[in-house]
Amino acid sequence: MADTTGRADEKELALINKYTRRALTQDDVYTFSVVLCDNELDRDCERFSDEALDKMAELFEGVTGITDHDPKSANQKARIYSLKVQRVDGRLCFDKKPYKRLLAKAYIPRTGENDGFIKELDTGIKKEVSVGCAVKRHICSVCKEDIGSCGHIRGRKYAGALCYATLDEVTDAYEWSFVAVPSQRAAGVIKSYTVGDRERGTVKEIWTSRDIDGLEKRVEELSELAGDGEYYREKLKKELFTWSRAVLPELSEEFLLGFTEKMSAKELFEFRNALGERMSELYPIKPQLWSGKEKNEEQNDIYKNI
Ligand SMILES: [Zn+2]
Repeated sequence: MADTTGRADEKELALINKYTRRALTQDDVYTFSVVLCDNELDRDCERFSDEALDKMAELFEGVTGITDHDPKSANQKARIYSLKVQRVDGRLCFDKKPYKRLLAKAYIPRTGENDGFIKELDTGIKKEVSVGCAVKRHICSVCKEDIGSCGHIRGRKYAGALCYATLDEVTDAYEWSFVAVPSQRAAGVIKSYTVGDRERGTVKEIWTSRDIDGLEKRVEELSELAGDGEYYREKLKKELFTWSRAVLPELSEEFLLGFTEKMSAKELFEFRNALGERMSELYPIKPQLWSGKEKNEEQNDIYKNI
């Protein structure tokens, strides 16, 4: 059974091979799509200008991704080989302008040491990203001056209008990184394949066709998926516990244990995301806003320990 998941076509392979020492084949690489950022308002009341997205589409070419902004995770590098700014049909931003997102295609070599990472991408565990880039201008929506000097405060309303900053004039793109809580809500890996299950058929169809080998294989695959699901559930529960302690310290461990046992993975995911939003308010990380400023190492450590 051919596994077409994450396979590069010939055209993509040619782009990928611009970055490799030896010519790689389709079997050598795993590819995936990732939304790096968009022009929607993020949790910090900031948005990228359309020009900033266009500029990043140039600057992020060939840039490698890392985990949790930790450049030491050398074995888990994926490299971007193509980018485009994409309109999503019918979708508008908070200000009714057309929604646009920066969509990147990245590859990672299919070496043994990357197997775990690829599995995490496939199962949605590695999902959310944020970008690190240098931005020259932060334009205030109220007065169009630089928001650092005009006195208006992001997130407040002035004469009924929300104050936010538009990030413009991107001068450099340092990195993109898988993170626990992305600053931008829509940033993350896109599941771009759905054909697999339909092509393989249901267990009933395989059973009816008396394809015992096929049935055995399908059961093996489903067991593996169930294992991945359980792993994902446990990971969500762990994050939920850790973040609850920071955000809702009044909840006892017994309560949380009983509570989370009854929750589905989807409910755990939503609760964990709600806590994540609160976490990012309490301990903000703003990698896209380094703009020459140093990262607050103490704040980032909170995430690294999770
Ligand atoms: Zn202002």
